[in-house]
Amino acid sequence: MTENGKVSVTGCLWAKGEVVRDVHPSVLAVTGPHATDEVMGHVHAHLPKPRGPFVDLVPTAGIKLTPKHYAYLKISEGCNHRCTSCIIPSMRGDLDSRPIHDVLSEAENLAKSGVKELLVISQDTSAYGVDVKYKTGFHNGRPVRTRMTELCEELGRHGIWVRLHYVYPYPHVDEVIPLMRDGKILPYLDIPFQHASQRILKLMKRPANSENVLARIKKWREICPDLVIRSTFIVGFPGETEEEFEELLALLREAMLDRVGCFTYSPVAGAAANDLPDPVPEEVKEVRKERFMEVQAEISAARLARRVGQRMTVLVDEIDEQGAVCRSYADAPEIDGMVFVADADGLQVGDFVEVEIAASDEHDLWAERV
Ligand code: SF4
Repeated sequence: MTENGKVSVTGCLWAKGEVVRDVHPSVLAVTGPHATDEVMGHVHAHLPKPRGPFVDLVPTAGIKLTPKHYAYLKISEGCNHRCTSCIIPSMRGDLDSRPIHDVLSEAENLAKSGVKELLVISQDTSAYGVDVKYKTGFHNGRPVRTRMTELCEELGRHGIWVRLHYVYPYPHVDEVIPLMRDGKILPYLDIPFQHASQRILKLMKRPANSENVLARIKKWREICPDLVIRSTFIVGFPGETEEEFEELLALLREAMLDRVGCFTYSPVAGAAANDLPDPVPEEVKEVRKERFMEVQAEISAARLARRVGQRMTVLVDEIDEQGAVCRSYADAPEIDGMVFVADADGLQVGDFVEVEIAASDEHDLWAERV
């Protein structure tokens, strides 16, 4: 906005385009999800396209809206669940998995174009292929099922970082843990547990079996000791009692998750949870969030302190006057912490570099090159 004053909005809020226009009347256009052509049309209308045979070519990897060294790989759209606090299915529809060949071809092109990290995203990554009954497709002459485990095995062939986001804890998630142990994909799971209380989870209508979460985490860590787990939780869901909130704190203390996001419940227009009884007062929600974050801050700090003295491979995201801003396998871009390396001599964005961790706090690490 400050660069040229021209803003076009794209994404699922398009279904409520008038809301965007009411709040920001100067936006040039509001387009729906996956409307790449439409977006490019608006961009070219307002910032005329430079002419020339070379600049007109779209790279084989397609158009990425992320820095060159990492890319999001969307594997499906929509969702078959009906969590009571969510309106995504009403906006995006039921699960619609992309054909396995399309996903793998895109990944291959991205890897060939120099991308160092693929971030697998969807509304529900572990449900990939359910809608097509895990149909077998073909890629490079090999049969491959439209299923998360097989997808991960194939993505692991490129020798670049592959990170899984939005993985609900279905039983078959256990199958990808050995792939993480064997270095095929990053030992990183972004798995939204949302709560510990069975009653609240039921009211939330969360997908997948949320029982035995602790036992499963323990098992995963036995198989893959390097596993880093990120999760998100909601506090102050309608009807949440103090005891249920404390159950959540107890899970947190026991699970020792590496990275955690916490949101206070806020009603979204059109969500079924708005009709649930016993809303939690705003001030109670805020206090619970603070208590939650206090507990997690200590856990995150303790998890990161274990890294001091360890050697790690990090990926350079940015070079600034203070050195190189990097991430390790334990940090997803935008949401997790960073690894700061003072000596950026000869480094470039997108380089992998070996470092030794020298210091930590509750979010980030500081390291020296080895
Ligand atoms: S799993 Fe639940 S929260 Fe996630 S997109 Fe589907 S309905 Fe929404």
